[in-house]
Amino acid sequence: MRISSRAAAINVSPTLDLDSRVKALVAAGRDVVNMAVGEPDFLAPASATAAALAKVQSGAVRYAPAAGNAKLRTLAADALNEGSGASFTGDNVVICHSGKHALSGALLALIDPGDEVLLPLPAWVSYVELIRLAGGEPIEVMPLSGPEGAGARPDLAALEAAITPQTRGLLVNSPNNPSGYLWTRAEVEGACAIAERHNLWILSDEIYRRLVFPPGVFVSPLHVATGALRDRIAIIDGASKTFAMTGYRIGYLAAPKPLADAVTRLHSQTTGSPNAVSMAALEAALTGVQPELADHLAEYQVRRDLLLDGLAKLNLQLVRPDGAFYAFPDVSRYCDERGASGFCADLLEEVGLALVPGSAFLLEGYVRLSYAMPQADIKEALKRLGVFLARR
Ligand code: GLU
Repeated sequence: MRISSRAAAINVSPTLDLDSRVKALVAAGRDVVNMAVGEPDFLAPASATAAALAKVQSGAVRYAPAAGNAKLRTLAADALNEGSGASFTGDNVVICHSGKHALSGALLALIDPGDEVLLPLPAWVSYVELIRLAGGEPIEVMPLSGPEGAGARPDLAALEAAITPQTRGLLVNSPNNPSGYLWTRAEVEGACAIAERHNLWILSDEIYRRLVFPPGVFVSPLHVATGALRDRIAIIDGASKTFAMTGYRIGYLAAPKPLADAVTRLHSQTTGSPNAVSMAALEAALTGVQPELADHLAEYQVRRDLLLDGLAKLNLQLVRPDGAFYAFPDVSRYCDERGASGFCADLLEEVGLALVPGSAFLLEGYVRLSYAMPQADIKEALKRLGVFLARR
């Protein structure tokens, strides 16, 4: 059977692929510490679980509008408006099957063939593929060079210099996957100023926006944008990371109405209405305060500090991750001609530690560690990494 060039050009998600391979190794009896996938190890909030169960038992699990239930759309809009100065209403929100689904829908609705999208590196694995799937051209922009950039800080001058007459938009992601770097207010302002000057849209992937460690402060383009740019900003969010609801596959897009409507039309044809059970769970999660979240954040912070301490003892340099649950150290001095991929392959083979090579995020010489795991596992991972590095 002949596969279309569109599908043939798509690579499998390296994070999901590596995670499945590592889980298969563990199932086969291999002793592996899996720091590969970005998946919380906590339970979903009790209120979300209860709502999901009640929804199933009620039997009211029928089709819904393609953009999702009206009440949930309003809740999601309110959640994004809180403290950001945005004034989204339910009409601006499209409930999607995941953050990834919201992202792919938005890119398909925004990009025409040949359009360029600025992509500050390092960038999460799916951005490049989804931009290309939509017919666009990702313009990869390296972070600031040297220790100052630490493999994460955006180079705003390079970003602006990369703009051509074909450039239409900018995809930003703070806190960042893979580095955990939290963009400063000045960086977000700088990015917004560029978008304003060059008439670009901004797609802001804010799936980690609630996973920020004090004194870090999350700043969205919504907080700083003024004038006409406010009508060119769209936000991606979802339940997977904040609420530890990865398997529920539920997220949302908040966007100016023409974009929300376009994505709704697309999804009405491709996926139909979102999952009824997951919508009920997300509705519960977004209603009121979930007591578990503060505990999760505090525990992530303890784990982050434990990991940073261990990486410092191993003399590995990295940007300070003030959000998400990733660290992205520079291992270039330990890499041979195979780069960080070879490093990760050897690490898995020799000491049973699974990390994702920076090349998956388009930045060679780094590795991503996901520390969404118990402290004992982080300590074990550090021990294995130490043994491995000492041999190289
Ligand atoms: N976003 C997570 C990660 O980066 C989940 C895997 C994926 O969807 O790529 O590990």
